Amino acid sequence: MSARQPEMVNVARLIAAGRQLQGRLPLQTMDRLGEMLVENKGEVEYNLHFVRDDQNRQMITGELVATVVMQCQRCLAPVSIQVQRSMAWECVWSEAQFPNIAAGHDPYLMEESPVALAGLVEDEMILSLPLVARHEAHEACTPPQFSGGEDDRQDEPDTREPHPLADLARLKRKD
Ligand SMILES: [Zn+2]
Repeated sequence: MSARQPEMVNVARLIAAGRQLQGRLPLQTMDRLGEMLVENKGEVEYNLHFVRDDQNRQMITGELVATVVMQCQRCLAPVSIQVQRSMAWECVWSEAQFPNIAAGHDPYLMEESPVALAGLVEDEMILSLPLVARHEAHEACTPPQFSGGEDDRQDEPDTREPHPLADLARLKRKD
């Protein structure tokens, strides 16, 4: 099987035509995002509108929805994270225009040549991931070095170093 060609889009033309693009992209094709995930199964559902707003700004608005699997930083087991991202990209032709971008909009630098739609979606997905993935309160989440103690959650994850008492236990066992 040959690899599917990535869909290329010309953002300025899509905006001029007032197009809407809707579909799904496999996470498997997103290598940079994949590096941040435990597995790259599943899809991103996208719904993008290429429009001029009432102030004549060129915009990409829309939503991404996906379920990704990351590593829980408390128990180190996989955790499913629901991503639901609304975006409002204001498209400009040069970085000099960035200061003019309206509050609540993110800048998007347009290019003359077509860009990969999957790249747009991947960039936004990466920005949507939590900095620290963690199980929700109702989910099973037990740090590997402790049994019980379900309630003493810490705000910051422990370092990955083994617990000092673990070494002590090993020494004692040698006696
Ligand atoms: Zn956990």
